[in-house]
Amino acid sequence: MDPIEKLTEYFKEFPGIGERQAKRFVYFLLHKNPNYAKELGDSILKLKDIIHQCPSCFLFFKGEQNQLCDVCSNTKTNRTSLLIVEKDADYENIKRSKNYSGMYFILGGLAPIVTKETPSFLRLKELQSIVEGRSKNPARNASHGDSGGDNLDEVIIALSLNPQGEHTDMYLREQLSSLQNKYGFKIVSLGRGLSTGTELEYSDGETIKNALKNRA
Ligand SMILES: [Zn+2]
Repeated sequence: MDPIEKLTEYFKEFPGIGERQAKRFVYFLLHKNPNYAKELGDSILKLKDIIHQCPSCFLFFKGEQNQLCDVCSNTKTNRTSLLIVEKDADYENIKRSKNYSGMYFILGGLAPIVTKETPSFLRLKELQSIVEGRSKNPARNASHGDSGGDNLDEVIIALSLNPQGEHTDMYLREQLSSLQNKYGFKIVSLGRGLSTGTELEYSDGETIKNALKNRA
């Protein structure tokens, strides 16, 4: 295949990039000096070596394979609360707002409204297993007189307030309902504290703070 065509095909796989934009990227690279393309190529290769996914919350971060991220490994993190977001950018934004001190889980996408099948990018099995694992945790602090330990007692569904986000919210409640009946944690939604159409990724700290305060 013609190298221009080939690279265009690669860029077309990027989210939101069509044929015309993909081609613009290729011509942009052709106009840059050779070093630029080399450094870009090196950065892409290094990415997979240096960045790994946390096995608990699925955040991409700079660390070794199977290593826990800063939040999951921090003993100060509140383990009784688990906040579910769609993607890394939402996680980063909520973390930056400094209004939440619990655990996170990155779902990997939203459930499509039209199909009943669970798409492979949704980490539903992983979520269920983590929720169950946290619920069964023996009370780690029991010896210090805290009978509650660090068992999960709240799942916060923090998805953007649009039709697909609301659909996924309902879907997750359904998928977690048998675990909820078994272990008695509560499920709340951040969306009820947001206004319609709010994208978490672009929300400011104040909006997130209010949404967390008004979660229900
Ligand atoms: Zn983590």
